[in-house]
Amino acid sequence: MAAQILDGKSLAAQLRAGVKASVARLSQRGITPGLSVILAGDDPASRVYVRHKRLACEETGIRSELHEYGSGVSGEELLDQVAALNADRAIHGILVQLPLPRHIDAARVLASVSPRKDVDGFHAANLGALVSGAPGFVPCTPAGVMRLLEHARVPIAGRRAVVIGRSNIVGKPLALLLLRQDATVTICHSKTRDLEKATRDADILIAAVGRAKLVTAGMVQPGACVIDVGVNRGADGKLVGDVDFEPVKAVAGSITPVPGGVGPMTIAMLLENCLHAATVQSAA
Ligand code: NAP
Repeated sequence: MAAQILDGKSLAAQLRAGVKASVARLSQRGITPGLSVILAGDDPASRVYVRHKRLACEETGIRSELHEYGSGVSGEELLDQVAALNADRAIHGILVQLPLPRHIDAARVLASVSPRKDVDGFHAANLGALVSGAPGFVPCTPAGVMRLLEHARVPIAGRRAVVIGRSNIVGKPLALLLLRQDATVTICHSKTRDLEKATRDADILIAAVGRAKLVTAGMVQPGACVIDVGVNRGADGKLVGDVDFEPVKAVAGSITPVPGGVGPMTIAMLLENCLHAATVQSAA
């Protein structure tokens, strides 16, 4: 039997509708959530991501503003911009779009964002909270994956989860979230020996690498839940994930498509984080 398709697009639309209703209620109290986006350099994909995020804000009533810089911007300029936004009471969330130009110390810029406004969840204080199980902003893509699993009622506790990829923004936080829900978690990466042996053990297999068709049908345990975080451009210019979708769909129990799986969930989680930031800051 072909796998169940985990439709992130329609779940994200439901979540956005919920955010819109909550934003309308906040607005009646005179509070409009505000997101500020810092975009530096000329990465075309970043531009597309930022446009999608801002459109989603507009649709839900969150005010967004863009601070755009050329690739020659200095680290000091970005730090000054973040400092001004940290102090701006009308701005509840700050998002520094990655990657920053190579000469910029991205870690320093991310560290300068107030953890209370860190709606991407990249600040060390929020990542530390995730490690210790304390409340804090959770990075949007991992949070979106967990919501998809929850919505599809995929059992997690006691199950074997394998995450391919160990970045600070996807793989590591995702592994921690799965662990928090009592999965037995394995993290694989480019130095992992015999990747296939590890992945065939997975009840939940998550690919967050950035390599088209890395995950083939032979790497998947029959009936497993397969989540594809990867975004790659195929030879025909179309978006493809890290999973060889059609053959894997024939083996897996459930699977996310690309596009229409994890991507829309990431944006929905950003909106929820902005709403949460505005709610908490307006109550303080
Ligand atoms: P990243 O920082 O480049 O990390 C990629 C990870 O994959 C690294 O840990 C790397 O291992 C590992 N890797 C590379 N080649 C491998 C191989 N052959 N076998 C096993 N592991 C391998 O990327 P990222 O930022 O985490 O993003 C991962 C993918 O998700 C990208 O395609 C990105 O575009 C996509 N993404 C999608 C969304 C969304 O909303 N849908 C959001 C964020 C990212 P090492 O650590 O050993 O180098």
